[in-house]
Amino acid sequence: MSKIKHIPTNEVHILKDSRTTACGFKITENPECWEKIGDNAKTTCSKNGCK
Ligand SMILES: [Zn+2]
Repeated sequence: MSKIKHIPTNEVHILKDSRTTACGFKITENPECWEKIGDNAKTTCSKNGCK
């Protein structure tokens, strides 16, 4: 699964599709806050969908 990091919180989320995390964040609203990272990165988000 693809992972993406929210830079301000340093939290790693699972990417559901190109616009949304598995827990429901719309990454298109603040694209500068999100950084694509390696698929092997450990997910740190604890919200439903990511955990
Ligand atoms: Zn998440």
